Amino acid sequence: MNKTKIIATIGPATSSKGMLKKIILAGTSVCRINFSHGTHEDHLKVINSVRELNNELGSHTAILADLQGPKLRVGDVAEGSKLVKGKQLVFTTKECEGNSGRVFMTYKSFPKDVAKGDRILIDDGKLVLKAISSNKKDEVVAEVIQGGPLSSKKGVNLPNTKISLPCLTEKDLIDLDFALDHKIAWIGLSFVRSARDIIEIKDIIAARGENSLVVAKIEKPEAIADIDEIIQEADAIMVARGDLGVEVPMYEVPLLQKTVVEKSRKAAKPVIIATQMMETMIESMTPTRAEVNDVANAVTDGADAVMLSAETSVGKYPVQVIKMMRKIVKNAETHQGIYNKEQKAVSNSNRFITDSICYQACRLAKNVNAKAIITNTFSGYTAFKISSCRPKAGIFIFTSNHKILNMLSLIWGVQGFYYDKFVSTDHTIADIKFILKKERLLQEGDLAINIASMPITDKGGSNMVKLTQV
Ligand code: PEP
Repeated sequence: MNKTKIIATIGPATSSKGMLKKIILAGTSVCRINFSHGTHEDHLKVINSVRELNNELGSHTAILADLQGPKLRVGDVAEGSKLVKGKQLVFTTKECEGNSGRVFMTYKSFPKDVAKGDRILIDDGKLVLKAISSNKKDEVVAEVIQGGPLSSKKGVNLPNTKISLPCLTEKDLIDLDFALDHKIAWIGLSFVRSARDIIEIKDIIAARGENSLVVAKIEKPEAIADIDEIIQEADAIMVARGDLGVEVPMYEVPLLQKTVVEKSRKAAKPVIIATQMMETMIESMTPTRAEVNDVANAVTDGADAVMLSAETSVGKYPVQVIKMMRKIVKNAETHQGIYNKEQKAVSNSNRFITDSICYQACRLAKNVNAKAIITNTFSGYTAFKISSCRPKAGIFIFTSNHKILNMLSLIWGVQGFYYDKFVSTDHTIADIKFILKKERLLQEGDLAINIASMPITDKGGSNMVKLTQV
């Protein structure tokens, strides 16, 4: 099993049950549903198919419901429209068919938010404009700095503008409701600007009585500025390099990736590297050498997961791209620098005992070259914590909660198992080791470390480490 997980975005190329089965068997741990595309009906079919496959295959593939967030777009534009350097383009909030001189902007407060001198980027930054004036009501006039073809519904980025749209738009709230109705394990929040955005969505999830976890997508300069607080509040982080590379100069993204990965791992928050990882394989059977390097570097940077977008949603070779990514990941995982990152527990943390137990278990695993660190979890917390120490030993987590089990599929190195017997600590430890031996994950003579909460019936925090030979 690869320790770094693979996330596949589902779209027309992969949404049938047959294709979902193939990509899960090829190594997909998480299926991402992108709410920027498709209908709830389409998404529900995928959710049901993934769940059926989990039952049929005994897999625990998680679903990540990725909310669109306040993505700005231009309206429809006449075919053949082109922006020319030095010419002007008028953005209007009055609906019209756009052309080379005028374009409809779907976001009503655009003229209020944009000020003279602000940069306006269209189509992933391919078109660059500078605002000359705004009437603060319904029009912004901008000068074209970098021109090119302009087509319908292209995304608009405003890297220097404070956008007054909330992080959760009306569409997001409807999509979130749908995701919570269907008990989705992971919810992605796009264009996060501050930790407050995370608190807001978590409050909504809690008010619904759900325990879905939140992935903060880092794709705005404001998010970079507030990264420590965002990591604190979020359950996982995504370095969403597509929009990030438009909103900040793209040459800054590689080092930002390294910083965000390191900070997230230290905080025991899983971190995903996303976008254009294997872009060439949308059309071709072979990735570029640079793409292979990019995936391998994400692994050696210490990411929990690497994500495919158009490669699996609309690409020609969705199964091949996952197989190739898995080979790259497995090879990169032979790099010793990614392992043994255990950190001492902080004495004033409210999980000090559990954190200390996880730290000691990982140190012990390193010292005795243990093959497995095994534990039961009720909330998933110990799995996050052990994984953040990046032990070489397998991390085998047993839980009686199916949603938690699927959730764990995103976390580095973690393999989850369903288990619902709670007789006694001794019985559970013996029984679980028997299961792992049967699954050929442990062999006679292997050293294994168990973390447990005693007494087991209290379902409290972990407070015990045990080393045994199988
Ligand atoms: C990104 O911008 O890198 C990203 C993952 O976001 P999306 O695919 O939702 O635009």
